[in-house]
Amino acid sequence: MSRAYFENEEFFKDKDLTYSRDDLTKVFNRATIFEYMDYLHEKKMAFSMIICDIDNFKSVNDSYGHVVGDAVLKKSSAELQKVTEKIGVVGRFGGDEFIVVVPGVNDYDETWTIARTIANATGKFVIDELNGAFITFTLGISRYPFDGDDIKTILEKADKALYRGKQKGRNCFIIYLQEKHANINISDSGAKSMNPVDIQLNISRILTHSNNVKDNVHAVLTFLCNNLMIDHICLQMDGKIVDEAIYSLSYVKEFKPIDVGLIERNTNSNGLCIINNVDVLNQVKNHRFRDFLLKNKITGCVYIKIECFGVEFGHLRADATSPNGRIWQQTDLQQLVVFTQIFGLLLYYNKCKDQFLED
Ligand code: GH3
Ligand code: MG
Repeated sequence: MSRAYFENEEFFKDKDLTYSRDDLTKVFNRATIFEYMDYLHEKKMAFSMIICDIDNFKSVNDSYGHVVGDAVLKKSSAELQKVTEKIGVVGRFGGDEFIVVVPGVNDYDETWTIARTIANATGKFVIDELNGAFITFTLGISRYPFDGDDIKTILEKADKALYRGKQKGRNCFIIYLQEKHANINISDSGAKSMNPVDIQLNISRILTHSNNVKDNVHAVLTFLCNNLMIDHICLQMDGKIVDEAIYSLSYVKEFKPIDVGLIERNTNSNGLCIINNVDVLNQVKNHRFRDFLLKNKITGCVYIKIECFGVEFGHLRADATSPNGRIWQQTDLQQLVVFTQIFGLLLYYNKCKDQFLED
């Protein structure tokens, strides 16, 4: 069997490997991976730096607990190592961020091919503790010496690319390009997740991306699902789910349409039905609605009527599947409501409802 890349590297030959590993994940620790990049820099050897950050990892900790969170870090880094061990070296940068250094690769196309291979693999890591749910990564990439003369600059640029990937909706890779990414400003608040205004602007942009309303709407559902971390978001029309997006960490993978008669009693005068936890349905004695949710392993949900000028088209529906339901935040609801209203307008003026009902 051929050896791992690092075993042939001069730098690692005189290293005491017991002190070079990260305690939790056993990939190289931060100090070692940076020393290694310094070594390549001193030797003027080209490399690509790939920062791999788990998407919405906080929600893994929140939904499954820190012990599972730790297992996810261990197993996903071991898998990342397997994917890259013949071509480079993996280190833990901190938290849920890992760095893959790929020496000898500086050319854009070659970097792209490697990034795509890693990105494809990361979405398929099987982690038993997640009971069939998957994590995804966003990758930010820069190249030495193409993007800068020193490691600090290379790191800043990979970080900008990562930030852009998070902004675009995660689960993707971005290679830093001066003409596209130079002006990205990573705020000190560290918020890689988007603020509500940016989310809204992105939705408008995605909705008008192509002439195909159906494709655009699907892209918005996926975007909302990833950014608001909603387990399931769908459009229901004429008793059918006509489009949907399922979050990679959702406990449930298949969803059935609901008979909207069941939600009437819990719908307010604005056409909104908001359930933080299925238990509240016991209090209002809406047992049929409760039974539907329990049977389908849904623990919380939101239904928003899609309508325009009194014409009703269906519902936008969002489901939570984690054990404690979901306390829907005003910011979540605002994004969902505004999108539903815009969608209602599109249906009214575009008369494109039939597109959604085609099989
Ligand atoms: P984003 O998609 O923007 O990356 O969102 P995120 O939720 O992954 O946010 P971010 O990367 O900023 O947060 C990483 C979280 O990882 C924060 C911290 O609670 C958690 N974390 C950091 N180190 C550990 C660890 O050793 N074990 C566990 N279980 N969690 C950790
Ligand atoms: Mg993360």
